[in-house]
Amino acid sequence: MSELAYPYEAPASQALFDRAAAVTPGGVNSPVRAFRAVGGTPRFMVSGSGPYLTDADGREYVDLVCSWGPMILGHAHPEVIAAVQEAVARGTSFGTPAEGEVALAEAMVERVAPLEEVRLVSSGTEATMSAIRLARGFTQRTKVIKFAGCYHGHVDSLLAAAGSGVATFALPDTPGVTGAQASDTIVLPYNDLEAVHAAFAAHPGEIACVITEASPGNMGVVPPLPGFNQGLKDACAANGALFVSDEVMTGFRTSRAGWFGVEGVVPDLMTFGKVMGGGFPAAAFGGRADVMAHLAPAGPVYQAGTLSGNPVATAAGLAQLRLLDDAAYEKVAAVSARIQSLVTEALTKEGVAHTLQTASNMFSVFFTDRPVRNYEDAKAQESFRFTAFFHSLLSNGVYLPPSSFESWFVSTAHDERAVQRIADALPAAARAAAEATA
Ligand code: PLP
Repeated sequence: MSELAYPYEAPASQALFDRAAAVTPGGVNSPVRAFRAVGGTPRFMVSGSGPYLTDADGREYVDLVCSWGPMILGHAHPEVIAAVQEAVARGTSFGTPAEGEVALAEAMVERVAPLEEVRLVSSGTEATMSAIRLARGFTQRTKVIKFAGCYHGHVDSLLAAAGSGVATFALPDTPGVTGAQASDTIVLPYNDLEAVHAAFAAHPGEIACVITEASPGNMGVVPPLPGFNQGLKDACAANGALFVSDEVMTGFRTSRAGWFGVEGVVPDLMTFGKVMGGGFPAAAFGGRADVMAHLAPAGPVYQAGTLSGNPVATAAGLAQLRLLDDAAYEKVAAVSARIQSLVTEALTKEGVAHTLQTASNMFSVFFTDRPVRNYEDAKAQESFRFTAFFHSLLSNGVYLPPSSFESWFVSTAHDERAVQRIADALPAAARAAAEATA
């Protein structure tokens, strides 16, 4: 780790990281937090307020991660905190049904037309895992189509990814996923409807569902080409499979009704997480009532959870959804557009080849001058420039996702002061990106 690459220190974070590494694999509870893609010391945060995070060394950052999406109102929003405090005071878990979970489900159903029924769970991973199980149970089929570069949580069968751009059976992407689990997953290149048609033709009557991120943010922001999602829906309908739209990231973020609200393609099943939990572990899957009727106890497909519909999490999620009106989405869109143009301006000024891609208020920068339509394109970028860009911003108090394959997130709390701080930090970061070498 050269002085040049990391021209600042974070001793308190480093001490915590060392302590963590002694008791937790790699020192973190979710791999991307370890900064492995960019190097340096992961920042241990002690508090968040509005658009800012403060680390263990007392340094404040403008946060462009927003907890990977959930904090769309910024950190510690007073009304969300008040709802949480009120809920906590009444008890933290009952193990029985409670009104809060009904209210949250009603709020979701009211906003997202294709959601006839929802089941609450505790993480996005659980939501996609359960949706896949339900799709298999409903269709009595085994195979699942997913797209390279789409992340649906660490569900065994969905961690499979194929290396080539053709329809193929996946190999396990991680030790611990069996060949059998992976072999039921067909991994295709994103935005390639021909590959989808070919896969359906090659496996007649075998494919339970196609699962896709509604608009992918896990290979950086790579929106669906016009007609792609509709094409998936049509291919599923024509072949007796279910279309599962993963809105864990986009849900209640990209519009009042998530990506569905942007594009209007009606899925059979949808998955949610992040924003709907208000910063707590709450997630959901839902969709067609006739499909959801196959779920226990109404039907035979088993699914359950001790903390599902947790009263504190549902109170936080409900408070957050209630605050997310049209004005809130307009505010997030406006601040997102401001930051996008500042980034483009700074990189252009330094002659750095880049492509900024958006999906509503989600955006990310690829260090390439070519449009990115799939995972292969995303991998072709000059990620070493991102590393330099990231560290320069970090040292100047702007916290980006520590990887070039992630969406950036903003909130209603990103005000003029926060934007100005980003504007002040960008010129040096763009210069660092321009000067970076592989
Ligand atoms: N699906 C998508 C699209 C995601 O972005 C994520 C997480 O980033 C997940 C599923 C998994 O959610 P969780 O991390 O809550 O398990």
